[in-house]
Amino acid sequence: MTALRLHNTASGRVEEFTPLEPGHVRMYTCGPTVHDYSHIGNFRTILFEDLLHRLLETQGYKVTHVRNLTDVEDRIIRKSQEQGVDIDVYTAEYIEAFFEDLATLRVRPAGVYPRATGHITEMVALIQRLAAGGHTYEVEGSHYFRIATFPKYGALARLDPTKLKTGARVDVDEYGKDDPRDFALWKARKPGEHFWDTPLGAGRPGWHIECSAMSMRYLGETFDIHTGGVDLIFPHHEDEIAQSEAATGKPFVRYWLHAAHLTDATGEKMSKRLKNFATVRDLLAEGVAPRAIRYALLTGAHYRKPLHFSSEMLVGADSSVRRLNEFAVRLQAPADPADPPADIRQRWDDALADNLNIEEAVGELFTWIRTFNTRLETGGVPPAERASAMAMLRYADQILDVIDFPGALDDAEVIRLIEERRAARAAGDFARSDEIRELLRQRGIQLDDTKDGTRWKRIT
Ligand code: AMP
Ligand code: ZN
Repeated sequence: MTALRLHNTASGRVEEFTPLEPGHVRMYTCGPTVHDYSHIGNFRTILFEDLLHRLLETQGYKVTHVRNLTDVEDRIIRKSQEQGVDIDVYTAEYIEAFFEDLATLRVRPAGVYPRATGHITEMVALIQRLAAGGHTYEVEGSHYFRIATFPKYGALARLDPTKLKTGARVDVDEYGKDDPRDFALWKARKPGEHFWDTPLGAGRPGWHIECSAMSMRYLGETFDIHTGGVDLIFPHHEDEIAQSEAATGKPFVRYWLHAAHLTDATGEKMSKRLKNFATVRDLLAEGVAPRAIRYALLTGAHYRKPLHFSSEMLVGADSSVRRLNEFAVRLQAPADPADPPADIRQRWDDALADNLNIEEAVGELFTWIRTFNTRLETGGVPPAERASAMAMLRYADQILDVIDFPGALDDAEVIRLIEERRAARAAGDFARSDEIRELLRQRGIQLDDTKDGTRWKRIT
């Protein structure tokens, strides 16, 4: 297996990856903030995290992956107040939708999904520890982190400490902070806001302390990987480092990985604020196949490069997924166990181990498929070679997870394809409709169009 190299935001370099504990990777990913439906920009970062998670697994690591749910922060408080409901009532719908979208996009589940509201005790304990070390001060019931006590502040984002401005989620004006760079660890109760009665006083946590407390609770005071989108580098991750390291005196995270943004056609970051976003459910309603969304967000660009969202990108992804599926059928591979061909497997592994270069990995895969297809057309490819090619597809699909392997389709998949065929016919796309009928036939499913709709049965 090729040694894995990852770009570490902390050093600004690509470094060889070794976990703290041999064979076991501990990783924390930030968000979602469940103030609304997550958009596909959020899912771009989540699919980069899925790629990393899966690659670590194919490299033989046990992966302890924690993905938190930020279920109390400024926007959640404001919106729940507007609706006159408690925060957990407000967030329930978005939490449920988030898990549905994860399943739609086949994201590998994390081991734990801690909620901020379930870890107030840990947050309070961490703030008390910081207070004992002289890193905090209190103004009118709110507790702040005193940045002047943490000389390393700004190192992750490579900022000039004298020029730091506060971040978007820090309310500078409302509290009398000593230094505008200081950020809130605990915010005093305000009328009508959800609050907790704690030894720090009545109030609620600041956003940054949530992640420090939850990550260390599940992964220890020093862990391997922390990820998020580039927008989180400053101030969120900078503040997490300050809080965690000032409290423990130990290094917090060994490798910081950040995904570049999904942008709209003009290159602007996709965001709720700019209203230039689409959700997974928007795209499904437009008839985009879940696998096309997954494939586009996963392979559209290297994770450190911005990805420009467009409908052509989804069409392209859909056709790539179709080509993979058609190749799997065309191989007519015997079911014998086989290993992938060494050369293509090596090229695939090398590309991914090189800081997750999925663009190159997929490029190599399709070049190989084209050559193999030409050989299949001229005939006479021995069964053992076809079985080996199928093994390569299965290997690649441990990461891609978009291929329908020939064999028994489950009922849900048959029904989904029949529905896709119905939609294609309704749209006048008879080529696609015939293609689906043929695909189903090859997989042992016979369709019968009746006046009451399409019936299907399994044929032997
Ligand atoms: P949030 O729901 O705001 O907590 O964000 C969840 C994840 O999505 C974080 O890692 C963000 O950095 C990331 N994110 C937000 N907007 C985008 C975008 N347009 N493209 C890629 N990632 C994003
Ligand atoms: Zn976080």
